[in-house]
Amino acid sequence: MKKFIFLGVAVVLAVTVIYLNNQSPTSTPLISIAGTTMGTSYHIKLAAGSEAKIDSAALKAKIDARLGVIDAEMSTYKEQSDVSQVSRAAADAWVPVADETMTVLTTAQEISRISDGAFDITVGQLVNLWGFGPTLNLEDIPAQDKIKQLLSIVGYQKLELQAHPPQVKKSDAHITIDLSAIAKGYAVDAVAKLLLEEQLSNFLVEIGGEIITHGYKEHDKPWVIGIESPQANQRSIRKRLYLQDVAMATSGDYRNYFERDGVRYSHTIDPATGYPIKHTLASVTVIEDSCMRADALATAIMVMGPDKGMAFANRHQLAIFMLVKQNDKFIEKYSNAFTPYLNTKEVK
Ligand code: ADP
Ligand code: MG
Repeated sequence: MKKFIFLGVAVVLAVTVIYLNNQSPTSTPLISIAGTTMGTSYHIKLAAGSEAKIDSAALKAKIDARLGVIDAEMSTYKEQSDVSQVSRAAADAWVPVADETMTVLTTAQEISRISDGAFDITVGQLVNLWGFGPTLNLEDIPAQDKIKQLLSIVGYQKLELQAHPPQVKKSDAHITIDLSAIAKGYAVDAVAKLLLEEQLSNFLVEIGGEIITHGYKEHDKPWVIGIESPQANQRSIRKRLYLQDVAMATSGDYRNYFERDGVRYSHTIDPATGYPIKHTLASVTVIEDSCMRADALATAIMVMGPDKGMAFANRHQLAIFMLVKQNDKFIEKYSNAFTPYLNTKEVK
């Protein structure tokens, strides 16, 4: 049996973001803090110009502790996480979860409702079946009856949330949950909040490609983000965005996939069919105030595809930018709310 070629995140970093370091010699030096979390890397840049002296080792320790808590609550890979406990629970049993897990679950359910189920955190077992979850299964294309069987337990409506005290109930014991498409965005927001509490106001936080910017990079210059061209063996900047006090998340079919017999299978699953998405949308970037929302919305729009996704964005006044495959090229498309970010220098 032919094995899949598994191309992990480290190999295929084609749709990604780069903060452009076009600093002049007189620029304020940036402080960089980097590490790993949630199976990916994080990078923080602080423009420390007028701020008090920063002890970056102490700050990194605080950030790592904060990210450690979020990962311990929301990881699909940790047996004691809220996510794993909900996934193991019996039908109709209330499972207590942390407040912040409830925040993420509540937003996830809201995005599921507005996206008509394109975003669905109960899709996890199909993610596993297709070889992208904690239990790798890269042997063969899954059998259709297995997909059908798992589809019967997918459905965000099968989860019930209660805020006080925060707890979750499933209508079927077999349902599992997976916050992989929203938790990174939440973690970005949480680190930004921590930095603000530390009296820092000019920074960029990036976790696995999801970003938030606050204040300026230096003086009156905003943070500049480059969106890379979605080609596997080429690194070039496709778009420059000037961002201030906004979050940005990108979802793409080039970052995490496997190939078999020349067919590429994405890690984003369409909850309506149980199959990895297959269309011409190569990447979608969403700009929002909250990175948690941007992250989930990017995945939802990725599932919808170029036409439905753009109609959805315009209906909900979302600022989105798409790269759509057309023959051998990538065509840019953007929603009405995205226009302020196009070709502008120092826009919000
Ligand atoms: P991308 O940045 O490409 O959207 P994310 O890391 O945000 O990727 O999310 C992808 C992960 O989300 C998958 O690995 C899987 O665990 C989960 N996932 C896949 N399909 C869906 C879906 N339709 N709704 C919610 N989560 C999904
Ligand atoms: Mg996402």
